[in-house]
Amino acid sequence: MHVETIKKIELKKANIPRHTVDRQKANKKIKACCRDENNLMVEGRKTAEDRPHTDMIVFTCTKCNCRHFVAGLDAGAGIGKV
Ligand SMILES: [Zn+2]
Repeated sequence: MHVETIKKIELKKANIPRHTVDRQKANKKIKACCRDENNLMVEGRKTAEDRPHTDMIVFTCTKCNCRHFVAGLDAGAGIGKV
């Protein structure tokens, strides 16, 4: 599978859909540090080269280095439009 990373930036500076962030913050199965917006870096990815924009985002927690993948056509829309 071709996966292209668009960019990795602080969540505060990322223009990703609010509902994607809200889902991460509401996920009780993950540690509290990974739900804090201030700890999260966001990475936009395209799972295929011909995708018009990112269709996957990856949250990386700067406290524990955990990574959380969010897939879906609308997950990363806006972050890595090329
Ligand atoms: Zn964490």
